[in-house]
Amino acid sequence: MKIDFNKNNDGLVPAIIQDAKTKNVLMLGYMNQDALEKTQETKLVTFYSRTKNRLWTKGEESGNVLSLVSVKLDCDNDTLLIQVNPKGPTCHKGTDTCWAEENLDSFGFISYLEGVIKDRRNNFSPEESYVSALFAKGINKLAQKVGEEAVEVVIEAKDSNDDLFLNESADLLFHYLMLLQAKGYTMQDVVNILKNRH
Ligand code: AMP
Ligand code: ZN
Ligand code: ZN
Ligand code: ZN
Repeated sequence: MKIDFNKNNDGLVPAIIQDAKTKNVLMLGYMNQDALEKTQETKLVTFYSRTKNRLWTKGEESGNVLSLVSVKLDCDNDTLLIQVNPKGPTCHKGTDTCWAEENLDSFGFISYLEGVIKDRRNNFSPEESYVSALFAKGINKLAQKVGEEAVEVVIEAKDSNDDLFLNESADLLFHYLMLLQAKGYTMQDVVNILKNRH
C-alpha cells in the first residue's frame, strides 16, 4: 500500500473505523506509519494520538479494543477505511459509536420495515396505502387488528398447517410494528425491556 502520509505535512492519515458486521461508522482516528504497522502486527487498532503525542492502542485502558478485520485505502491514497470487530462500546462515553445518542441494536429487515411504515404513515394518503388507512382509523382499531391477528396465530398453531401459521405470524408482527409506532415506540424499546429483565 502506497499511503500518502504527508498530505498535511504531519505524517498522519485519517482512519475511519467501521464495524465489519453492522457497517456502522464507530469513530475516526489518525494513524502514522508506526501506528498502522502496529495495528497490522497486533491486529488491534492503534492510532497516533494527537493529544497524547504517542501511539494509542484503542482500549488500552478501557479494554474496549478494536479487533482488526481489514484495511482499505481510498481513491487518492490519503484516507484509511478500517473494518473491525469492536469488543465493547467504542466511544469513551459508553456508546457503541462516537455519533450515537444511545446504543442501537439493528434488527435488519424489521428495522427497515419500521422505516417503511413510518414513510407510508407520513407521506401517503389512506387511499394510496393500507398502512396509512389503518393509522387513519385510530389507535383502537389498530390495537383490535393486532388482537385479531393474534387470535389467527392461535388458531393456526392448533391446526397443523405450517404455511398458514407462518403467514399469520407475519401478519401479527407487521400489525404489531404499526401499533408500536402508533404508540410512539419501536422494536428497540421492547427489546430494551427484555434485555433489562435478562
Ligand atoms: P481507551 O483507549 O478506550 O482505553 O480510552 C482511553 C482514553 O482515550 C479515554 O479516556 C479517552 O480520553 C480517549 N478515547 C477513548 N475512546 C475514544 C474515542 N472513541 N474517541 C475519542 N477519544 C477516545
Ligand atoms: Zn482521499
Ligand atoms: Zn466518542
Ligand atoms: Zn392474518
